[in-house]
Amino acid sequence: MPIKPENRHRYPPRKEWRHIRERILKRANHKCEFCGVQNYTVRMNARIVLAVAHLDQQPENNHAQNLAALCQKCHLKHDEPFRLLHAKETRFQHRHAHSYDLFEYFN
Ligand SMILES: [Zn+2]
Repeated sequence: MPIKPENRHRYPPRKEWRHIRERILKRANHKCEFCGVQNYTVRMNARIVLAVAHLDQQPENNHAQNLAALCQKCHLKHDEPFRLLHAKETRFQHRHAHSYDLFEYFN
């Protein structure tokens, strides 16, 4: 789910996040923890890039059990119910999608 600017402060500082992310990717053996696809696999001319997701959608909760290395497909699928819950916000995000770069922040 894209990070809204007003929520950015809820995330750990980039340097700290990089350490957390590395730890989770290592735990996952650089494979999606839901479907098992290997990081950087190329499928249909698109590269799979794993992102570390907050399973409960709470960026403050950086406990290992709340984090999972996920491919884009599983990440989107996992976030779907939360997106429906926040459909109005999501419509706003889509209109302003160019302002946010989720994958750049997570990777
Ligand atoms: Zn996956």
